[in-house]
Amino acid sequence: MLELNLDLQMHGLYAGGVSKNMEIPVMAEQSKLKGLDALVTADILHKKWFEHVKKNLVEESNGVYADLKGKCNFIVGGEVEDNRRIHHLFYLPSLESATELREKILGFGNLDCILCGRPKLRLSAEQIAEKVVECGGIFGPAHSFTPYTGIYAFYDSLKGAYGAMHEKLKFIELGLSADSYFADLIKENHSYAFLTSSDAHSPWPNRIGREFNRIKMRKPDFASLKKAIEEKDEKLITLNAGLDPREGKYHATACNSCFAKYRIGKAEALKWRCVKCQGEIKRGVRDRIEMIADFKEETHPEFRPPYLHLLPLAEIIQAAVNSKGVNTRAVQSRWLSLVEKFGNEIFVLVDAKETELREADKEVAEKIIAFRKGFVLYIPGGGGNYGKPIICSSEKEMQEKKKELYRELEGISEEGMQKTLGEY
Ligand SMILES: [Zn+2]
Ligand SMILES: [Zn+2]
Repeated sequence: MLELNLDLQMHGLYAGGVSKNMEIPVMAEQSKLKGLDALVTADILHKKWFEHVKKNLVEESNGVYADLKGKCNFIVGGEVEDNRRIHHLFYLPSLESATELREKILGFGNLDCILCGRPKLRLSAEQIAEKVVECGGIFGPAHSFTPYTGIYAFYDSLKGAYGAMHEKLKFIELGLSADSYFADLIKENHSYAFLTSSDAHSPWPNRIGREFNRIKMRKPDFASLKKAIEEKDEKLITLNAGLDPREGKYHATACNSCFAKYRIGKAEALKWRCVKCQGEIKRGVRDRIEMIADFKEETHPEFRPPYLHLLPLAEIIQAAVNSKGVNTRAVQSRWLSLVEKFGNEIFVLVDAKETELREADKEVAEKIIAFRKGFVLYIPGGGGNYGKPIICSSEKEMQEKKKELYRELEGISEEGMQKTLGEY
């Protein structure tokens, strides 16, 4: 049995806002540096992208796909939007079954426009699920808690969303703004496997694999993925890894325009209008989950793997060397030398020994070790703005920063604290 790192949600260059570099050979090469063993083909229903994928993959054996240089395996799949704007993921056994699914949904939406990598379909969640299953595939909601396109933004329960197809639902994808702690506060989620994925729009290692799953598989193919998802009690999914939810763009309730953060009660009292700029206040994942949670404390089903919070290595190096961005020469050269020494980024972040890290790059090693020890604080994201991690070098520094940044860390701005007239 292999134990593989998989990132199963991203977009190709024909989806909106995606880097021109998002092509199979680049994705495969970068995934190797990241430490990912398999990716999703992404956007497989788009005609031009399908042709690109077909040209750039070989079928090594029945249902096992790899890029032409054999750097990375690929699982056939993609994302679609339903008639309520909810996003769903699907995975399929083969490129042939992707053609079959495409034929079934032709006529229910524009599949091939320049931004149609994630097509908008005139089909309900239930109808989409039916068609995926008819083609031998599996389906589940994408970034399930996000306020615009996550299933829990529209429904209090997954049963309501998928109708009769609810029985066939096996996984939910958590998205950047939630983790297993949050998702398992809802009782019905204890029946599903969790997937964590990057939803990357560019192939660089600070984007792909910023969330991934570690799964025991016989082969890097659809059949092994399906088994791991369906037979939860065998614990084949051994790890969900990803950003701390506070880093997500929609974690706290916040204004869409100026990002002022609000308590939920305050936002309601203001009828979701920002006092600072009159922009729209968007309910955050944290508050949404609190509304529908069944549990008050952390609880998980027996089969649930650990959730490991991670940061892209380039961001840790950026903090270590106090650089302006992740793409500066100072950050990139140190990133490359660590990755060359240890083989890949995930190994550096998760598996490399402390002594060896220190030998390779003392400054960066101290930050990685501090991060592993949990000496990190987060200013939560909200309103479409990413959150911000602050890596401290010791427990003491962390406690001091906690006091100093009390308000920011709580994720409520000045505006969000002020009382409205009615409250006096
Ligand atoms: Zn989506
Ligand atoms: Zn505002």
